Amino acid sequence: MNSASASAPAPAAADALAARSLRAVWHPCTQMQSHEHVPLIPLARGEGAWLVETSGHRLLDGISSWWVNLFGHANPRIGAALHEQIDRLEHAMLAGCTHAPVVELSERLAALTGNALGHAFYASDGASAVEIALKMSHHAWRNLGRPAKREFVCVRGDYHGETLGALGVTDVPLFRDVYAGLLHPAHVVASPDARQAQPGESPADVARRAAADLDRLLSERDPTIAALVVEPLVQCAAGMAMHDPLYLRQLRALCDRHEVHLIADEIAVGFGRSGSFFACEQAGIWPDFLCLSKGLSGGYLPLSVVLSRPAVFDAFYAADPARAFLHSHSYTGNPLACRAALATLDIFRDDAVIEGNRQRGAELDALLQPLRDDPRVAHARRCGMIWAFDVRSEADPAPAVPPGSFAPNFAQRCFAAARERGVLLRPIGRTLYLMPPYILTTAENRHLARVAWQALDAALRGPGRPAGA
Ligand SMILES: *Cc1c(COP(=O)(O)O)cnc(C)c1O
Repeated sequence: MNSASASAPAPAAADALAARSLRAVWHPCTQMQSHEHVPLIPLARGEGAWLVETSGHRLLDGISSWWVNLFGHANPRIGAALHEQIDRLEHAMLAGCTHAPVVELSERLAALTGNALGHAFYASDGASAVEIALKMSHHAWRNLGRPAKREFVCVRGDYHGETLGALGVTDVPLFRDVYAGLLHPAHVVASPDARQAQPGESPADVARRAAADLDRLLSERDPTIAALVVEPLVQCAAGMAMHDPLYLRQLRALCDRHEVHLIADEIAVGFGRSGSFFACEQAGIWPDFLCLSKGLSGGYLPLSVVLSRPAVFDAFYAADPARAFLHSHSYTGNPLACRAALATLDIFRDDAVIEGNRQRGAELDALLQPLRDDPRVAHARRCGMIWAFDVRSEADPAPAVPPGSFAPNFAQRCFAAARERGVLLRPIGRTLYLMPPYILTTAENRHLARVAWQALDAALRGPGRPAGA
């Protein structure tokens, strides 16, 4: 018996719940000691775009609970589908068995790619989907008689998850460097981040320059390279770095020419986040592997999937068990998670969400004008339902570009100021971003825009400096 939790006092107030959590729970992506001065937020429930604290204080979820929630918390349509499914079949193994939710979801996901991709392989988290794509790529090349293809390429600043394989293709030093000794290191090529444009250069010029860097690497090493993995259109964890779709077209052409698989990690940008249903659509390309998670289940249950080209599947289809993809997870294709995903796809279809987001996005765009006009902000940018702003500091007037560069003071102060005013925000370094669910009303859009600007203002004023200084 864990004596720490067994002896914890019975909770009476919100503070007691937070204190128990700090004793019993190891929170993710957190230096636990920071909670000595940054309070944990104890939540009681969710309601549409809002999270409600145990104290009753309401927070508009401005970052969709880490980019997963699409249609709000406690959504009645997704909830009804889950209630119906839980009384029918909660879970069964997917090796040797199948069920309607997993079949229907796989068919509908393939149809959304015009059946360019299919044979849905499921896991629970984004990082697992990336692991699967990496293993499948190498194994496919092996089965095709090219076992030397065992290296991977990622893009400077890319993030693909925290498990060892995914971390090996992640270029965020803060997350990766401690574990360097455990990783299969990847080649890192130049980022197409449009903020790097020199005077007179367009985002497409930056994209071409970055693609040329990849071309150089592949020209030297393609016999040993299995795949390139990329975050299409937005490198989210790097601080919402955005690039021209031309980059993806160039990657597709280079991967074809050099016989290297293209893995598109749309875990964050899929499901309408980039403005189209899949980000790759804006470039008019399909990858060899498409990794999806986060919004896949509407933000309800852990679910991820890898879709692949028919040629990949065919490379495994044989009598020999060693040629098969023997990877598995206990909860692969969980029926509840698949039903949540089907209900999410129903909402996209029935409510014409992609079209509606154009209207919603334009409205928030106009409301964010004060942030764009603020002289302390650089590189105000938007891709679909993602808005981002870099904040200049006195010490470093150039806006934050290097991934992993961390300005905890700005991020923490902004987070605290936004919470106080009723919005959940979590800046990355000196990048303040908004990634709301797709259901905000005009009043909610106004609240989000107003508080984002006030939080930025409060965070930059900092302690000891008068307003307007
Ligand atoms: C979040 C994310 C992942 C990892 O997903 P988890 O579910 O957190 O493991 C991988 N790639 C991208 C682009 C992500 O945003």
